[in-house]
Amino acid sequence: MLVDGDAGSTSDWDDRWNHIKKFLERSGPFMHPDFEPSTESLQFMLETCKILVIGAGGLGCELLKNLALSGFRNIHVVDMDNIDVSNLNRQFLFRAKDVGRPKADVAADFINSRVPGCCVIPYFKKIQDLDETFYRQFHIIVCGLDSIVARRWMNGMLLSLLVYEDGVLDPSSIIPLIDGGTEGFKGNARVILPGMTACIDCTLELYPPQINFPMCTIASMPRLPEHCIEYVRILQWPKEMPFGDDMALDGDDPEHIQWVYQKSLERAAEFSITGVTYRLTQGVVKRIIPAVASTNAAIAAACATEVFKIASSAYLPLNNYMVFNDVDGLYTYTFEAERKENCSACSQVPSDLHFSPSSKLQEVLDYLTESTSLQMKSPAITTTMDGKNKTLYLQSVASIEQRTRPNLTKTLNELGLADGQELAVADVTTPQTVLFKLCFTS
Ligand SMILES: [Zn+2]
Repeated sequence: MLVDGDAGSTSDWDDRWNHIKKFLERSGPFMHPDFEPSTESLQFMLETCKILVIGAGGLGCELLKNLALSGFRNIHVVDMDNIDVSNLNRQFLFRAKDVGRPKADVAADFINSRVPGCCVIPYFKKIQDLDETFYRQFHIIVCGLDSIVARRWMNGMLLSLLVYEDGVLDPSSIIPLIDGGTEGFKGNARVILPGMTACIDCTLELYPPQINFPMCTIASMPRLPEHCIEYVRILQWPKEMPFGDDMALDGDDPEHIQWVYQKSLERAAEFSITGVTYRLTQGVVKRIIPAVASTNAAIAAACATEVFKIASSAYLPLNNYMVFNDVDGLYTYTFEAERKENCSACSQVPSDLHFSPSSKLQEVLDYLTESTSLQMKSPAITTTMDGKNKTLYLQSVASIEQRTRPNLTKTLNELGLADGQELAVADVTTPQTVLFKLCFTS
């Protein structure tokens, strides 16, 4: 690393890449069996390989630093957030003077000025604002995200780039996805070869259940204790302002939580729902699990190593899921997550939805959001009838929601749906529409 002085802005000084050359220019017992040591891998990394880093937060800062110091010079980074003062303890590319500025911009500036020859290009955007043409240009994509929805969307995007010819996957259309995630003292790193190995949606069951619920459920059809707490948090607090006009709900204030807890109990009693506790109330209100800098460092290191292994082809990549936990001592192990035959994201086969003709559309909607293997957020369901597209239910546009809401209480029969009917479902968890086949049960 250039500490100070002038070593030339883009030129490499003697021995600059010696640490990397040891891996690429001589053989060793852990090499990939097909790898031939040469100077070409390093040239590819320095000059050609294009890496996309998603997220410039806790993991993103670590990833950018690791990749830049490993010889990657063509790095793009996407992040939609601005720097908050609470980020500064671990997001070390940012300083107090940067608070309020976009993370992607500041992170890119920092790396570019600190690591000569490295060119990080920032995008202060949502991943959903960039299209296929953008994503297709990269050799490898690394995700350091804190959102499952964003991860699933990215996964869906890379799956949509796959090219199949006569049902056979064209390997040149695969962009490897390295995904890192942390939650407090726990983390995971995984390697996904879209279309070949388990994708994010294949292993959705590994993620905790959703904590965001459709507004209509919260407002008029609560079924879970969480729905009642959300009702109080979202609707009742702003209306009643129990601690004064400008007082925002503070998850760390026991009086606030106590108030939400009591009101949630009342709401739950109204609908005969049990299970509202003080602890659950705090869990639902706070949502945020504190970030631990060292967990981020360990997971980002594992992810950057995988990028290095895949870009250089010198070593076999992680196969394919590593868990890391240092809550109590340190525990880590790796297993091979398996592809799910009927994965709604990567299997290429429309999944079956088993419902009786007398089931209501609401039940289908509930299944899409509550099933552990789907966990959709605000599914929009459309179908084709008599050659015409028909929207059965759509939440994201208020006027359409209002118009289609009555369908929720109709049965599948009343809606004119037939056995074998294809339902197309759009959701924020994927850029593609997911196809389902309705299978009537008797
Ligand atoms: Zn899958």
